[in-house]
Amino acid sequence: MLATQLIQQGSLLEINAALTGGSVTARALTEASLTQIETLNPSLNAMTQVFPQQALAAADQADARLQQGKNVTYLTGIPVAIKDNLDLLGSRTTCASQLLHAYFPSTDAAVVERLKRAGAIIVGKTNMDELALGSWSLHSAYGRVAHPLDPQRQPGGSSGGSASAVAAGMVPIALGTDTGGSVRQPASLCNLVGLRPTHGIIPNQGLFPSVTAFDTIGPFTRSAMGAAICFQLLSNRDPAAFRLAALQQLQQPLRIAIPNELMTLPLGAGIRPLFEGAIQVFQSFGTALVQVNVPHFHQGTRLYQHFSATGILQSLKHFFNLTKDDPGKLSELITQESVGPEVKARVTRGLRLAAEYGPAGNAETRRARSLFRHRLLDYFDSGVQLIATPTSPVTALTPQEIQNSQHSTHWDLFTIPAAIAGFPALSLPVGFTRDGLPVGLQLMARPGDEITLLRAAIAYEQRMAPLRSFQVN
Ligand code: GLN
Repeated sequence: MLATQLIQQGSLLEINAALTGGSVTARALTEASLTQIETLNPSLNAMTQVFPQQALAAADQADARLQQGKNVTYLTGIPVAIKDNLDLLGSRTTCASQLLHAYFPSTDAAVVERLKRAGAIIVGKTNMDELALGSWSLHSAYGRVAHPLDPQRQPGGSSGGSASAVAAGMVPIALGTDTGGSVRQPASLCNLVGLRPTHGIIPNQGLFPSVTAFDTIGPFTRSAMGAAICFQLLSNRDPAAFRLAALQQLQQPLRIAIPNELMTLPLGAGIRPLFEGAIQVFQSFGTALVQVNVPHFHQGTRLYQHFSATGILQSLKHFFNLTKDDPGKLSELITQESVGPEVKARVTRGLRLAAEYGPAGNAETRRARSLFRHRLLDYFDSGVQLIATPTSPVTALTPQEIQNSQHSTHWDLFTIPAAIAGFPALSLPVGFTRDGLPVGLQLMARPGDEITLLRAAIAYEQRMAPLRSFQVN
């Protein structure tokens, strides 16, 4: 029972304490995780592949390690799921696409290697939007992922399977990837902490690229402390800087910027009051607020659309070995019936942009990106450590609402700036709307300053009721 409860609701530190204290074994936790998956996955469709034998063997190794008390990390014996665009030796990397149906990688992704070295137990791979393009986990060759709180709704995307698996209580931690928001947005919609580290800090080797210049691997956890621990292990950061005591201490009072432009944006019902309430909590421990104008914030979406279309084009060309410019071959690939509408739309846009603007267009967008980054950096140079926004302008929607939405171009509005700039950002759960749907607050920091980002999130978390995943009825 204890193992099941820990898998359903435990934070990383709670599970680690039970493992090192000997009240639960990695095997019991892994069995509980596999049972949870068996029970819940038929309705949620969060996992694409499950590896019971390998997971149980890894659990026994972790138990031996725990017993000897040698080489134990916070992840030793912890069941973890990884998004199905990350390579795991012996299994397919599907990216939820028929295009990759026979792709068996020859090595583990760098993050998988790090997870294994830390003693984590990889129980399965998670469902996602095809090739990581999308915001709702609706476009998958495996079918849609359902939201654990309300299966009629979507958990966000593209890492919706990872979010759904952690929130539903199948695993306490999952890895996702964030190109334009795909860790932060589903985390926000599923009441989880989702971290997008600085681009390049966690190695992308073994990740099927979506937009190479933006792709970033990050964890979904039930606590900010869990996110900090995962980040340290995945990035190989100095463990001394990430000691628990150091994480629990804010070095100086924070200064957080809030973009004025926010005030005029249409937000889903209940989001603004929860955002403002969370900001008040930050103020209650001495955080100073600064209102700033970020007029170029909106331009991010247009820029991102260019990068995302041309990026996926490059990525597919590379994968299918289309060395010469061969638009015909790519068009042919995507006309296959099995390819979903989002991939079709992006590749078509990518081909159009390439034909219209050529390399000069790319050079221009790269310049615009650099300018965007510098303007954002200016805020941090003016003495602000963090920028706060809601993570998403909407809460979890139904497929019908998604289809009818007038705001599809706004969905990623808040997560795109950090993606364009390559800055670290996280989503922190700040409560539920009247309809019972989770809302997240996004914090963004300067490149390389994950420690301030995580300390701020931990300081908030310490003042709030402990985060808990919810039970599925
Ligand atoms: N929703 C965004 C898109 O559709 C972001 C996807 C991502 O981060 N992988 O491109």
